[in-house]
Amino acid sequence: MDRIIRCITTDGSIMASAVETTDIVYTAQQIHHTSAVTTAALGRLLSAASLMGNMLKKKDAVITLKIKGNGPAGAVVAIADSTGNCRGYVEHPEVSLPNKPNGKLDVGAAVGADGLLSVMRDLGEGEPYVGQVELVSGEIGEDISQYFAVSEQVPTVCALGVLVDKESGQSLLSGGMLVQVLPGADSAAIAKLERNAALLEPVTTMLAKGMSMEEMCHQALDGFEMEILDESPVKYVCTCSADRVTRALSTLHPGDIRTLADESGKMEAKCQYCAKTYEFTQEQLNQLADSVEREHGQK
Ligand SMILES: [Zn+2]
Repeated sequence: MDRIIRCITTDGSIMASAVETTDIVYTAQQIHHTSAVTTAALGRLLSAASLMGNMLKKKDAVITLKIKGNGPAGAVVAIADSTGNCRGYVEHPEVSLPNKPNGKLDVGAAVGADGLLSVMRDLGEGEPYVGQVELVSGEIGEDISQYFAVSEQVPTVCALGVLVDKESGQSLLSGGMLVQVLPGADSAAIAKLERNAALLEPVTTMLAKGMSMEEMCHQALDGFEMEILDESPVKYVCTCSADRVTRALSTLHPGDIRTLADESGKMEAKCQYCAKTYEFTQEQLNQLADSVEREHGQK
């Protein structure tokens, strides 16, 4: 079972969060049939979304991360709620690229370094807050760090990792960490954090050693006293339902709704996030179009 944790130094100067997303990324790969490199891209973004979602203070809040670079993988999207549960997809999951000369998956080339990272926080009240930065490398961890530095003026270390089997391309381990300097941190604390960050092992190395999320935070906050703010399980969760699909369809023009069915007299809508299909018969589509027309008529 994947877990997420948030810790803070007792002097209140630094926050550290860690998440294991091994099961989440395994599920994502089963749903989307991602290649090795797109598994890594989606897995990293899912970890980042889970960490950033878990930081939202409103219970019904939702965060959406979208990376759109100029690489062959196309857009990568991850959504998380305030408990860190998440879902996502990659536009071209089948894209496969040779590894970098150092043997690492070339996520930066799959995503493309020329493009944007957008972050949308919907707190469930009023307009969502949207921030956007240009990508640094398309490797995702650096791009998230850059987002916090530029868009929110919060110095941040973001480390994300997905380990896949070299032969099969199957994801084996996945996780991420987010370490942030809080307002009021003194220069000694920042210097200590910078030393720790330079020594921090890759996330997948720590996971392979069997380290817990708490131990990972301890490593990032070495030399500080820390306390755990909260810890909980996290999962790949989709929120789609027949109701939501119907509501999405009802935003279309009634004339268009009537023509959605194929020769077999049915229309299938497939959820982008979990691949669940929802079927609508011609009769159901006609009824929906009628009710949309009635509503329009009342206005
Ligand atoms: Zn779904």
